Amino acid sequence: MAAKTHCPAGHPYSGDNLFHDKNGGRLCRTCSRKHKAESYWRHRDRICAERAAKYVPTSNRRRHRHGNITVSDEQREALRIIREQGE
Ligand SMILES: [Zn+2]
Repeated sequence: MAAKTHCPAGHPYSGDNLFHDKNGGRLCRTCSRKHKAESYWRHRDRICAERAAKYVPTSNRRRHRHGNITVSDEQREALRIIREQGE
């Protein structure tokens, strides 16, 4: 049986990049980390948006204060700027 030496994205199954799941499957650490980070940010973004919609008092809505609620707004703003600069 031919052992795969690279993950579907082309990262090598070797050294620190290779680890095994609990079923004995081979996993690419780079991809695993990437997927985890992506789902984390997606999840976090949605939670922040829902929380902000419910949570921010009307009088504070225009004020950018430091805290969990405004972080995702700041990130969105940063992404918007990056996107505009890229075009
Ligand atoms: Zn990979």
